[in-house]
Amino acid sequence: MDFDDTPDEAAWRQQVRRFLEEHRSTLVDPATRHDVAAARARQALLYDHGYVGVTWPEAAGGRGGTPMQQAIVDQELARIGFPGLINLIGIGMCGPTVIVHGSEEQKERYLRRLLRAEDIWCQLFSEPASGSDLAALRTKAVQQEDGSWRISGQKVWTTLAHLADYGILLTRTDPDVAKHRGLTMFVVDMKAPGVTARPLRQMSGGAEFNEVFFDDVVIPDSERLGEVGQGWQVALTTLMSERLSLGGGGTEIGAGVDAAAAHLAARLGAQSADRQALVRQSFGRAYVSSLGTRYTGYRLLSALSKGALPGPEASAGKLAGTVAARQLSDLAVRALGPEAVFASTADGENLWQQSQAGLPGMAIAGGTNEVLRNVIGERVLGLPAEPRADKGVTFRESLAQSGS
Ligand SMILES: Cc1cc2nc3c(=O)[nH]c(=O)nc-3n(C[C@H](O)[C@H](O)[C@H](O)COP(=O)(O)OP(=O)(O)OC[C@H]3O[C@@H](n4cnc5c(N)ncnc54)[C@H](O)[C@@H]3O)c2cc1C
Repeated sequence: MDFDDTPDEAAWRQQVRRFLEEHRSTLVDPATRHDVAAARARQALLYDHGYVGVTWPEAAGGRGGTPMQQAIVDQELARIGFPGLINLIGIGMCGPTVIVHGSEEQKERYLRRLLRAEDIWCQLFSEPASGSDLAALRTKAVQQEDGSWRISGQKVWTTLAHLADYGILLTRTDPDVAKHRGLTMFVVDMKAPGVTARPLRQMSGGAEFNEVFFDDVVIPDSERLGEVGQGWQVALTTLMSERLSLGGGGTEIGAGVDAAAAHLAARLGAQSADRQALVRQSFGRAYVSSLGTRYTGYRLLSALSKGALPGPEASAGKLAGTVAARQLSDLAVRALGPEAVFASTADGENLWQQSQAGLPGMAIAGGTNEVLRNVIGERVLGLPAEPRADKGVTFRESLAQSGS
């Protein structure tokens, strides 16, 4: 990959940078950083000027641009300290799933509004008894005489469900076939009768994710995504999109290297030469890991730019990014001591407190570090696959085996 911008990319970067500078005070206003209405307005502003859904097809409300153009937008947003798009789950996971598996009517109804954050979306996959082993999910969908579906069950860890207008919902429609084969995906109206979202408080102080209960919720058959029993294939589209959006396209995950360097440099002067040398060594190691992540992200971008489907580097990128962010954050805490707890960046955010509290979640969301290591072990290194006790049995039989 050529790391320099081509003339077209440089022109695009200049255009994006000019726009972001012009609207900087709105886009990074610390006073409205956590305000939901302001976050929706920020996303709409970016969308209306062509900076959201850059790679989405024009027919889906996107710009029809290249992965490199999207990466440049991401890099420039990171440069000004943009707090992130509110509808990230919608853009990264739900929208791409509707694009591939939705009907024309669903695409028309949902996609443009999703990109403008007029509707917020969530992804309803994980349950109390199924996370890494997603296909073990139990939320039941039963078809009624009039063709509609009646849903009962519980999801958990659903990011943004308390704000969401719609969600993609993976359900079990047939317990008498192998567990991956009896699933069906739907779009669910999160305001429908019988849907209850309860926020869960995290140790970071935030409450962005929820447990969600479905008590006899009715979904019309026209809101099914893909065929009955094909939910696993539909979910793979979502999961692939999730790895891509978390795998980093040349941007950092969690705690940025540059912010870490600036923080440490500003505070190291007061420390002894020995201590400074130790911190520099550790910082060097963490910095190299972060660069590794960045360049793995570029490999992903290269593959996408050539129209290829990315391989397991998307999983490797997410794993490496999480590990590198952890190294940096731990180093900052060791080097700064108690000061790390109180040190604030210019916009008043406490980088190290947030990264210490948030990184354990990053190591779980979208595939835990252990599961991603399994993927790399099996699909990259060719190691023997894990033994799977539920092979060749129906979902109902595997439940009976586990005594549930
Ligand atoms: C910040 C955050 C946001 C999230 N947002 C969403 C969301 O919007 N929608 C949604 O559906 N879900 C969401 N999740 C849930 C997430 O997908 C699950 O937490 C994740 O898949 C792990 O599942 P689990 O929590 O059930 O843990 P488990 O799968 O029970 O894992 C428990 C432990 O066992 C390990 N383990 C499990 N299987 C293996 C294996 N085969 N080999 C080795 N070790 C293994 C895991 O690594 C982990 O350490 C979110 C989670 C977090 C932290």
